[in-house]
Amino acid sequence: MKKRDIVLIGAVLFMAAAGFLFLSLVKQDGGKAVVTVDGKEVWSHSLSEDAVYTVKSRNGSNVVRIQGGKASVTEADCPDQICRKHKAIDKTGETIVCLPHKLVVEIKDGTKEKEYDGITI
Ligand SMILES: [Zn+2]
Repeated sequence: MKKRDIVLIGAVLFMAAAGFLFLSLVKQDGGKAVVTVDGKEVWSHSLSEDAVYTVKSRNGSNVVRIQGGKASVTEADCPDQICRKHKAIDKTGETIVCLPHKLVVEIKDGTKEKEYDGITI
């Protein structure tokens, strides 16, 4: 094996590793939590940053928390408490629903992730 071949292989491996790292970074960044009440969006926030938002509507209040890349309802004054007991969500399409408050927390793709859909290494 010539020295030039080794350099080439090294470069290819490096590119593959860099590409993989890049894609996983983009993925991590991509998701966001979107909160709707009665079908209207009241708040959205990237999952990559911790945040707390208190949703107050005439139906009642819910506290939505984003922590460690996951979204959950940590407090609610609804009678069934189903939303509060729901596990934290972080995958696109997952939802936490509070029926009494008509509140939905949904995980959606960030714009970044959409741009790079379809790229395969
Ligand atoms: Zn609830």
